[in-house]
Amino acid sequence: MSGAPLDLIIVGAGFSGLAMAIRARQAGFDRLLVIEKAAGIGGTWRENTYPGAACDVPSQLYSLSFAPKSDWTRLFAPQSEIAAYLEDLVAEHGLAPFLRLETRVERAVFDAAAGTWRVETDRGAFSTRVLVGAMGALHHPALPRLPGLETFAGTAFHSATWDHACDLTGKRVGVIGTGASAVQFVPEIVGGVAHLTQFQRSAPWILPRGDAPVGRGLRRILRVAPLRRLYRASLFWRREAAALAGFTRVSTVTGLAEAMARRHLAAAIADPELRAKLTPDYRLGCKRVLLSDDYYPALARPHVSLVTAPIRAVLPHGVVTADGAEHPFDVLIFATGFSPGGSLLRTEVIGREGSSLLQAWKDGADAFRGVSVAGFPNLFLLLGPNTGLGHNSVLLMVEAQVAHVLDALRRLRAHPGFVLEVRPEAQAGFRAEVDARMEGSIWMRGGCGSWYLDRSGRNRTLWPGTVGTYVRGTERMRAEDYCLVEPPGLRPGPTKGLALSKP
Ligand code: NAP
Repeated sequence: MSGAPLDLIIVGAGFSGLAMAIRARQAGFDRLLVIEKAAGIGGTWRENTYPGAACDVPSQLYSLSFAPKSDWTRLFAPQSEIAAYLEDLVAEHGLAPFLRLETRVERAVFDAAAGTWRVETDRGAFSTRVLVGAMGALHHPALPRLPGLETFAGTAFHSATWDHACDLTGKRVGVIGTGASAVQFVPEIVGGVAHLTQFQRSAPWILPRGDAPVGRGLRRILRVAPLRRLYRASLFWRREAAALAGFTRVSTVTGLAEAMARRHLAAAIADPELRAKLTPDYRLGCKRVLLSDDYYPALARPHVSLVTAPIRAVLPHGVVTADGAEHPFDVLIFATGFSPGGSLLRTEVIGREGSSLLQAWKDGADAFRGVSVAGFPNLFLLLGPNTGLGHNSVLLMVEAQVAHVLDALRRLRAHPGFVLEVRPEAQAGFRAEVDARMEGSIWMRGGCGSWYLDRSGRNRTLWPGTVGTYVRGTERMRAEDYCLVEPPGLRPGPTKGLALSKP
């Protein structure tokens, strides 16, 4: 490590890290690095390659506003096309020289005397003024602790680490989990297998998806920038309307959406017994609502069974359920989701007082607008706590957070030697706002448990409001929320010039 510190280091080369890097360079911050532990860019969209992997937000909305693409082939782009979009962004914006792939951040320590971050990786250390955590929230596969799992003699893998060498043709396949991943790959694999058993712990609410190739007419429209923007706005407002209509509570909207979902189920499943098993016993919206037109038809096929008895253990040749039934398998696929928190919680991040982010978060992840944490100056998180979405494109949240960091970078450029730190009272105020919005929400009162909630039952995952409310409060820093302080002897003190300086 030598020379002046970098302007910023971004950890993670997924959607959010790349968006941050592009925007920072466009704003004139060229002294930056994007550190990525994998051998390639793309994050989620590089890793999840299961058959049928696609986004369930329309592509015109699930893309960056400043990097529009008019030629998505489908309304909901498949994984390969999203991964290619991200590769294209790297090429178009000349990001390659700024990437450090196959480099793992092991530790990041704030140097309170210098006001810089020391970022230690397995390939050496770097010094930077600003550190951006863009490590994603859903990355580490969660495998259920099933007795005997290690004794399984067939092939077993998680949907996020799909074993493409495993030919499923003619095999007896067990799928555990019925979330967003399972409903995408089950219809893709069902045609070739000898038998498919879907293990369901709780039935998901599923609404029609309406995916289709982008027709010639729409493609022509999307080539005209103002029309493309209008189309994107219509997609945005349709989703935002759900939030404005009160989707965070049990409301009339909940009842209407449930009726639509039940009609969708009835249209595909004639067998009343199967239909009953597939009918959720909690309110729509409590867990992530799924979109699919082919999952129910897949389950209705004669060589498919839906098992709702809990799994008791894994045997060398299959699975035994709590009712004593044995289910023989050649292949077991876990579609059991991820441990929330991503890699950030597995990296040692040491702040101003010498204590770690893990310690600061011992009672749960907490950040001002999901972005900054008191005691950790010049550290910014993308897709941090309470910034996930259930109803709209999460990239809208990412772009607001990127704007927030750019604002910080500009202010820091105007104040060489200073650092920015969120005021503890601003962070506490944001937590109180989130908790108040969560009170009585569908996630707490909808009659389900979900990974959205932490051990104490608090939702630290989702933003409980409209995207507009979040974006308006996040895009720009407010002087009352941050301190601009000069090391050494960092202590949050009175704002020095933050409000005065025009960045
Ligand atoms: P998930 O939504 O967390 O679903 C996990 C499934 O596994 C649930 O059905 C869960 O049942 C079940 N499960 C977990 N542990 C189990 C156990 N011990 N025994 C039996 N069943 C168990 O996981 P995912 O489908 O991989 O999706 C994760 C997230 O990734 C999504 O919520 C979404 O945010 C994202 N995703 C997005 C897209 C997209 O198109 N944008 C696609 C895929 C994934 P319970 O419901 O009973 O807990």
